[in-house]
Amino acid sequence: MTVHEPIGCHEAVAHLWEMLDGQLDELDQRLLDRHLAWCLRCCGELAFARELRGMLRARSEAPVPDDVLRRLETFIDDLPAPATGEAPG
Ligand SMILES: [Zn+2]
Repeated sequence: MTVHEPIGCHEAVAHLWEMLDGQLDELDQRLLDRHLAWCLRCCGELAFARELRGMLRARSEAPVPDDVLRRLETFIDDLPAPATGEAPG
């Protein structure tokens, strides 16, 4: 048996996109569900991402609008950095 640690927002969002692509493992789905249970921020992103994905699918030939990419990047940038121990400087 392996005990899985809670995942951070960065990981959760990555899983979130995989889920929307239908490529998320059952285990990762559980971890994501757990995270979303307490992280309202990601829950907000989930609703947003679902709509976005549907929109992109409806026009699969069109490139992703710059606005959308920027919004996603901003969201990810804005997430707290994962704890990696001691940060230099
Ligand atoms: Zn989160």
